Amino acid sequence: MSIRVESITKSWGNFTALRDISLDVHDHELLALLGPSGSGKTTLLRIVAGLETADHGEIYLHDEKATHHHVRNRRIGFVFQHYAIFRHMTVFENIAFGLRVRPRKERPSESEIHKRVHELLNLVHIEQFAYRKPSQLSGGQRQRVALARALAVQPKVLLLDEPFGALDARVRQELRGWLRNLQKELGITTVMVTHDQEEAMEVADRIVIMNEGRIEQAGSPNQLWEHPANAFVFDFLGNSNLYHGLVHSGFIELPGWKMRSNGWPEGGEVDVGVRTFDVRIAPSRNGSGRVKRLISSGEFVRLEIELPQEKRLNAQIHKCDPSLVGVQEGTPVRFEPLKAFVFHDQVTTGVPLTVH
Ligand code: ADP
Ligand code: MG
Repeated sequence: MSIRVESITKSWGNFTALRDISLDVHDHELLALLGPSGSGKTTLLRIVAGLETADHGEIYLHDEKATHHHVRNRRIGFVFQHYAIFRHMTVFENIAFGLRVRPRKERPSESEIHKRVHELLNLVHIEQFAYRKPSQLSGGQRQRVALARALAVQPKVLLLDEPFGALDARVRQELRGWLRNLQKELGITTVMVTHDQEEAMEVADRIVIMNEGRIEQAGSPNQLWEHPANAFVFDFLGNSNLYHGLVHSGFIELPGWKMRSNGWPEGGEVDVGVRTFDVRIAPSRNGSGRVKRLISSGEFVRLEIELPQEKRLNAQIHKCDPSLVGVQEGTPVRFEPLKAFVFHDQVTTGVPLTVH
């Protein structure tokens, strides 16, 4: 096990940022900590790194208790959201920095440093910029320098805190794929913090979803997508509609539709989630929905459908889908969720049910 976090709790005054967090990061995996702003992701990462101390709990690195080890002795590489590279140094000197400041006994020779830095420049594809200053680089290139610098000291673990957070969408997308390949090539155990669900789904082997200092669920992207543990996880993964419903006479009653309750307790309250991709519609004079907005963006048409009781249903339908023929803003429609997730007391595993 590369990292074990055991019952970590952290408060500032009477505000609790982390509540009894336990998690394992396996060797060679890329784990994403995903959650809204303020959920405790950075705090947890800083405790693993040794930049912050926990109130309770232990950190193990490579099966050795490291809770009280100094950050210097944890053999961890970091990359933060805001470029933490030195502005007055060239790219080469930035990457060499971690090697030059080592105690004399461990410091590589000048020719070894040269060789190692060029290997790293090569690895992150910025050889041609070795003698530039950071101000002469794009944001994406600077983050590659930051990563190369983190890797220079051959860390056993890499911690990335929203490393692409300050970059524009296109560069972010490109760097995601690049990071994923690089991490697999090096096999270095990596924890990456992000609040972007798409980024986490795309790069991570496993995702840990955090909310208000707690772990809501941990699992592979596919497990979270197919079996969200609760309404928060379902909703946070995006492209979702979430409703509150009551179980009545064997049905869950929702605004404009109902579904068979399949044994949920009579009179109970449930949350029902429907993904935007799992909605079918058809124009119909007697339909209980009405298209309020229709946005054609790329391959998909996004529809905002007005339901009774001032509720809304968002749908995404492929623009070639014949059900869209004759549909425009204002059209009354029938709609059918193809799959729904039902959550009871926020803790039950979502069960997809057929809608009747
Ligand atoms: P995230 O990275 O998920 O956005 P953080 O771990 O940065 O969240 O913060 C979690 C909570 O802890 C936030 O409400 C934040 O304001 C609070 N917090 C973080 N660092 C400190 C600190 N040094 N002093 C007081 N409160 C802090
Ligand atoms: Mg943060």
